[in-house]
Amino acid sequence: MTDHERALHNLEDQIRTCTKCRLHQTRTQAVPGDGPYTAEIMFIGEAPGYHEDKQGKPFVGAAGRYLNHLLEKNGLSRADVYITNIVKCRPPKNRDPLPDEIAACSPYLDRQIELINPRVIVTLGRFALQHFFPGASITRVHGQVREKDGRIFFPIFHPAAGLHQPKWQPALEEDFKRLGELIRELREKEGEEGGDDYEQLALF
Ligand code: SF4
Repeated sequence: MTDHERALHNLEDQIRTCTKCRLHQTRTQAVPGDGPYTAEIMFIGEAPGYHEDKQGKPFVGAAGRYLNHLLEKNGLSRADVYITNIVKCRPPKNRDPLPDEIAACSPYLDRQIELINPRVIVTLGRFALQHFFPGASITRVHGQVREKDGRIFFPIFHPAAGLHQPKWQPALEEDFKRLGELIRELREKEGEEGGDDYEQLALF
């Protein structure tokens, strides 16, 4: 095991045994994240739901299946993606995470981003978007590349929104198409020049 893998394993173990906020009292198990530690893309949702809490993995229910479909349709797969959430334990009855719970959990997410060092961070839904861009409106900025702290962000609607409200499905399909294009462009650029990802942002 490399030092990089060991650091991420240790971090996930810390999350599984964490008691830093009240959510540990009601969880079945914490859900650190899932995917390759060298993933190009990191997806960040809000919090584990019912099925994730039971299985200990993110996006395993219907929203997960829809996510897989959207990825595969656009030349991507779960193997390209590390998926995690803003908070790692399920809030009771799927309520929104509270500010003190997010504050307690955020260092884990910060460390995951630092260690995995993804090319693109995809925020899923309003909650994850506003964690990084307070006050931003998902209906205004979804599908647009944003940059912050030297990282590329790509906000999209939460796949669960498309499942529950079919009116959001065209926007989700379009955003995943653009994500696939963005990743292809970044890969090509790196292949050609080994270089600067950010020049490609002009395309979006
Ligand atoms: S939500 Fe985060 S901070 Fe709270 S107990 Fe779970 S891992 Fe710890």
